[in-house]
Amino acid sequence: MNIRTTFSGIFESILQREPLFKNKEALRHSYTPNELPHRDKEIRQLANILAPALKGETPSNVLIYGKSGTGKTIVSRFICRELINTSKKIGVPVNATYVNCEITDTKYRVLAKLAKSFGAKVPFTGWPTDKVYNAFKEAIDNKKRTVVVILDEIDRLVLKSGDNVIYNLTRINSELKNARVSIVGISNDLKFTSYLDSRVKSSLGDEEIVFSPYNAKQLEDILRQRAEIAFKESVLEEYVIPLCAAFAARDHGDARRALDLLRVAGELAEREGSDRVTEEHVRRANKKIEADNIAQVVRTLPTQSKLVLYSMILLEERDKNITTGEVYELYKKLCKAFSIDILTLRRVSDIISELDILGILSTRVVSKGRYGRTKEIKLEVPSRGIKIIIEDELRLLR
Ligand code: ADP
Ligand code: MG
Repeated sequence: MNIRTTFSGIFESILQREPLFKNKEALRHSYTPNELPHRDKEIRQLANILAPALKGETPSNVLIYGKSGTGKTIVSRFICRELINTSKKIGVPVNATYVNCEITDTKYRVLAKLAKSFGAKVPFTGWPTDKVYNAFKEAIDNKKRTVVVILDEIDRLVLKSGDNVIYNLTRINSELKNARVSIVGISNDLKFTSYLDSRVKSSLGDEEIVFSPYNAKQLEDILRQRAEIAFKESVLEEYVIPLCAAFAARDHGDARRALDLLRVAGELAEREGSDRVTEEHVRRANKKIEADNIAQVVRTLPTQSKLVLYSMILLEERDKNITTGEVYELYKKLCKAFSIDILTLRRVSDIISELDILGILSTRVVSKGRYGRTKEIKLEVPSRGIKIIIEDELRLLR
């Protein structure tokens, strides 16, 4: 093959392809659409709870629950924007501050972020947290106003740093002269209040709103609205959106997943120069996203779990019926080869159960007649990508 003649002008030909997207940003998570289909009830509920702020009264604290991708963040941000706009219009002072506790995940950082958003100067680290708390208090108390504090992913904060900061914030009103604080807590975990001190729990959960998962039909409506902005006219085959919606509905009604599917399907189609997005592209997008998710999980596993999983993959390449005992034997050999401490069979069994919970493999207890019972293990995900990830790490260990 003469590379020169075959590929000369390759970039021109790529650039000449008609793009399928008109505004891909509309499919990103960060994009804020003008309408939020199927969330009227939740929007109204939250607006009713926060409305007293506009009359100079203190709204109740609220807890919002729901699985990921059910619109909790976008609805809360939308309501806060509306709240502030109205407060400016009618001249009643209301502020709203949004904190994502997955990123801002310690007491210090949450308080510092709140204080800074009201103009206080707090160093990145180094002060006692009491001092940061006071800085926040002083910064808001210089005039009469209502401050709505949104603590998104609040369950992460509690798991990582305890409920101490939430306790402080729920008590702050008794220490303020002019300002009043209301808290909107958002959690993906429905059981998270069981980790809270009962006083925090009762004051934070004055009001509760539950966001239920979207069904396939609702996801279709959400996707159609975004697809209209994102894609050029008639580039989506008829069943592309329903298929994205169906896949995401199976994945606990996650709108984020639905949007990802549509975007990745579009990217695959565009990359191969297709003039339409087809169902086949959606299926491939689904596989790609799943593989990316699994890869992400595997990458973050501890080394010992990676070795157990690796033993399992090597064994499965030869034989489909694998037992815990066999995995353990091979695991021990690998540990020796890489000079890693060998865990007990009991611990390795636990690791196998953890991998089961993560959905990477499944286990089944089988009876071996008079030899007793054993656990049979089966890989539940494609092994090729995982193997490469683990081998990369093993290479480093060497
Ligand atoms: P959660 O906070 O519950 O995990 P998000 O509010 O972040 O979910 O929503 C996930 C994605 O789905 C965002 O990109 C958001 O724009 C979109 N989304 C969720 N609900 C709707 C809706 N009703 N209408 C339009 N887009 C939505
Ligand atoms: Mg969210």
